[in-house]
Amino acid sequence: MDQNQQAILDGLAALYPDAGPELHFSNPFETLVATILAAQCTDARVNQVTPALFRDYPDPAAMARATPEEIFPYVKSCGFRSKAVNIINASRMIMDRFGGQVPSTLEELTQLPGVGRKTANVVLAFSFGVPAIPVDTHVFRVANRLGLSDALTVEDTEEQLMALIPREQWGQAHHWMIYHGRRVCHSQKPDCEHCPLRPQCKSAHLDHMINPKADARKRAQQRKTKAADG
Ligand code: SF4
Repeated sequence: MDQNQQAILDGLAALYPDAGPELHFSNPFETLVATILAAQCTDARVNQVTPALFRDYPDPAAMARATPEEIFPYVKSCGFRSKAVNIINASRMIMDRFGGQVPSTLEELTQLPGVGRKTANVVLAFSFGVPAIPVDTHVFRVANRLGLSDALTVEDTEEQLMALIPREQWGQAHHWMIYHGRRVCHSQKPDCEHCPLRPQCKSAHLDHMINPKADARKRAQQRKTKAADG
């Protein structure tokens, strides 16, 4: 890790000292279901629907007996019907192949319907205490913009981050980047102007390229102001 990258990690740690999971869950099954539901949905929305879902379908056995028609009404505000189907099919596989227990290895978790590497890593990290860096869209974007990685895929980003960041910081670093992505380094409109990591960020001077439309608007506004000032 070079000095600049170290400064970025120190900066993220200072900015988000209390960063942690924003999804609510209390066991591996809830972690799995909540993370499946969180794909292309906000954590806040997922947290609204899971209390009723977990009350009525508290474990893989109960969920495995359900039909998509029964589950979809609980989760429809989180998006696709396929999420209900995946949750049920994952529960059935947990019952059939894993003795009713959510498995605790990456290889087994990624066999479950609807469970990719990121979801599996979330379950491993937060329910089984296995050090992991789940790379979602925020981590992928922020890590690459900041220069903590320079990968084209989430798999390579994960590999590069694990090689760069000390193992004991993996869990926290994942949250730091999610928090920064949600609060400052937005996908469409990164707030480079007010970003505390601007001095270290390799993309800060490219904010006009990250966000060409907003930059065009900003320049148009500046031209107008200048003209008005005479
Ligand atoms: S300076 Fe801009 S691109 Fe870099 S981390 Fe901050 S918001 Fe993101």
